[in-house]
Amino acid sequence: MLRDWYKAKKSREIGAQGDLHNESSNVKNYDVIVVGAGPAGASAAYFMAKEGLDVLLLERGPFPGAKSCGGTSLIAEHTHKLFPNFWEECHCERIVIQQAYWFMTEDSLLSSSFQSMKLAAAPYNHFTVKRRSLYQWLVDKANAVGVSVHLNHHVTEVIFEGTQAIGVEVSLPQKSRFFANVIILADGANSLVGERSGLIPRVSSQNLALYVKETIALSARVIEERFNLSPGYGSLIGLIGYPTAGFNGTGSIHTFKDSLNINVGMAISDFAISGIRPYELLDRIKNHPFIKTLLIGGKTIEYGGSVIPEGGYHAIPKLVHPGLIIIGDAASLVNGTHGINLAMWSGFFASQAVYESKKSRDFSVKKLSLYSTLLDESFVMQDLKANAKIASLQRDLPYLFDLYTKIANDTAYHVAKVYSMPKKAKRKFIFKKITSIQPIFKMASDIWKILKVVKG
Ligand SMILES: Cc1cc2nc3c(=O)[nH]c(=O)nc-3n(C[C@H](O)[C@H](O)[C@H](O)COP(=O)(O)OP(=O)(O)OC[C@H]3O[C@@H](n4cnc5c(N)ncnc54)[C@H](O)[C@@H]3O)c2cc1C
Repeated sequence: MLRDWYKAKKSREIGAQGDLHNESSNVKNYDVIVVGAGPAGASAAYFMAKEGLDVLLLERGPFPGAKSCGGTSLIAEHTHKLFPNFWEECHCERIVIQQAYWFMTEDSLLSSSFQSMKLAAAPYNHFTVKRRSLYQWLVDKANAVGVSVHLNHHVTEVIFEGTQAIGVEVSLPQKSRFFANVIILADGANSLVGERSGLIPRVSSQNLALYVKETIALSARVIEERFNLSPGYGSLIGLIGYPTAGFNGTGSIHTFKDSLNINVGMAISDFAISGIRPYELLDRIKNHPFIKTLLIGGKTIEYGGSVIPEGGYHAIPKLVHPGLIIIGDAASLVNGTHGINLAMWSGFFASQAVYESKKSRDFSVKKLSLYSTLLDESFVMQDLKANAKIASLQRDLPYLFDLYTKIANDTAYHVAKVYSMPKKAKRKFIFKKITSIQPIFKMASDIWKILKVVKG
């Protein structure tokens, strides 16, 4: 078995037989090849070219963000530190001043919401952005400082000389090879390039969440009326409980300028166990009595799906190899569903490591490990470590989101409902109702487990 793997790896090494383009002794050698023009790859490429490195950015799509649908929320502070006053250049949809969680059952919705005009002042808190404009903006920046961007280039695997990565093989638009001193893998979640090249183990279906997303067009005025927003401001709403049909997972609503983006997803293993089809989760949200009314008159303009690596800190693969660094989602650097800023910062840290390696002409693991050191010292790893036990907590308490959302909604219902009984009797009645769903000692034990994880 090992011998077969070694043979397969050997055949990918330089000098292997094949009718590939560019395979000649005078082929151009870049300082760095970056695979994938998402936030991770484009940021890495930008910062390296700014330092004077010769960078090639390979992207399989016909334009940056071609395979992505909808949008995302961008944490302003983290982005501003890398790209000062980015909101003046990158097209942001709305300044988020309202953040809410909606805990949902089939017919009820308990919300916790916060809004403040303090969140509307520069450098802001969150923006909603469309992926296409975010990715294009980053690639344009990279291009402007000298990065060679090759679109429609599908990388299949890494080429090695011994154990040293020295290039990549491309299958589309034609078979070809490109060579560099360092390769940066930024091909996103479930990195097939990393897996095929023997660098990243296959991500388990428990650690990979599948999300479905739909963008629904509505006029800016209607969005502002329905979400109680002033022009230019937006909401981020997390949806918990009913949308994921009894499993731990999440949904969200992002308000864009003239559309709403709905996302919902859960672990692939839970889709397999339940037999639920991904679009059914979206339908649960869209047909919910309190969401349906928000969507009246809307028109679907985009629909898609994608995966998020949700294994957290313990699922992070080895990030530095001889002549190669893995960044962004390919490296499982995602905290809950937040990954854009981790991707950008991992790209920045990789750029620093590659720059130092280039200066000393040393592309060994030892030299490139500056990347891991910078990551470890940053919010990226510190936040991932702080949340390291969340993935296992969710596995330990598979009913967590669903059951406690039901209990919270039930409690709220009984508190709101007027009964013809004295207050004391009503309190006893509510207590009995709740503890009939989950015994008090079980609730206390679950809360203890949650507190232990939150405390870290
Ligand atoms: C539904 C959903 C909602 C999310 N919401 C948020 C949010 O609100 N906030 C947030 O911070 N994060 C969010 N995330 C996570 C965030 O999108 C990712 O963490 C982030 O995009 C990772 O960036 P990346 O550059 O590593 O990978 P990607 O954005 O996936 O980019 C990878 C790039 O590599 C290219 N590529 C892939 N394979 C190849 C190949 N073989 N050859 C060449 N190119 C290739 C792809 O086309 C793509 O352009 C969300 C994710 C999902 C799925």
